[in-house]
Amino acid sequence: MDINARNIATPAANAPTMQPASVPVPVVGRFAPSPSGRMHLGNVFSCLCSWLSARSQGGSIVLRIEDLDDRCKRPELAAQLIDDLAWLGLEWDEGPYYQHDRLDLYESALRRLNDADLTYPCFCTRAELHAASAPHASDGTPIYRGACRNLSVEEIARRSVLRAPATRLRVPTVDDLAGDVIEFVDRTYGAQCEALATECGDFLVRRSDGVFAYQLAVVVDDAAMGVTEVVRGCDLLGSTPRQIYLQHLLGLPTPHYAHIPLLMSPDGRRLSKRDRDLDLGELRARFGTPEALLGWLAGQTGIAPDTTSRSAEQLVEHFSWNVIRAHRENITVTAE
Ligand code: GLU
Repeated sequence: MDINARNIATPAANAPTMQPASVPVPVVGRFAPSPSGRMHLGNVFSCLCSWLSARSQGGSIVLRIEDLDDRCKRPELAAQLIDDLAWLGLEWDEGPYYQHDRLDLYESALRRLNDADLTYPCFCTRAELHAASAPHASDGTPIYRGACRNLSVEEIARRSVLRAPATRLRVPTVDDLAGDVIEFVDRTYGAQCEALATECGDFLVRRSDGVFAYQLAVVVDDAAMGVTEVVRGCDLLGSTPRQIYLQHLLGLPTPHYAHIPLLMSPDGRRLSKRDRDLDLGELRARFGTPEALLGWLAGQTGIAPDTTSRSAEQLVEHFSWNVIRAHRENITVTAE
């Protein structure tokens, strides 16, 4: 099937919305890495959980390279990433797809939002947005206070001459009858709830340099690729209500979500790309084989009972969301 042709139309009003209970929907998971640097241990852990979850349910995996941002337009890093996933034995069934090939799809989703009068141009500068007093959403982005929400047509024309605007999506206000609260259950972190108006605010769907926002692209792609289960780092938990809201507006299905706790060092620091010894180049050299690395990681994180060498395939029988849930506050790994 041509995935570019799939699904971003609102389903017809009379289309069946549920599968009969006896027909299980096949599980489709995904890897959606941004090639901004070499994978590090935390990325490996998220990909491993995504892969184990899909495989343990007989599902498949799609690989999508998220390279919309300029700093991710590095074909050599994307190639390295693909090589690293293959080396780890985390095979995928579809892809790799590249977001830079899919701009028409994001454009058409944005057009639908524009046509429904759900967006507006925003001329605010970074400095205005990051004013010291601005309240922040759970992911650290400032909650937009609506300075450009109600500009007149004349004002928009006047400002457009001076500066290219970004595009913002209107979220419902607290008084909106449709309701502004998004609720979902995360497989790791349980029931989640966000009031869009007060905890998120109108958010960007396209930046002023023309780059489509991550939130829009990810929603369009997950639906077009038939993804039923999104497993990713818990730094993206706060983005999920925005993505669910966009799915509602675009008539797209909402997948299951599972966010993976960050890995911490024993001194309580979050492991990051700055810890060079934990990038996959170093880890491949240190462990020698994927089985040695994955077995060690599985033992350290509680997926497996010990750190014996194991392939991804051999870890499937050990995987359970209960283990991830039990460690959701933090998972400490001790680099050897
Ligand atoms: N591309 C994002 C990253 O590498 C992940 C996006 C997602 O999983 O939704 O951090």
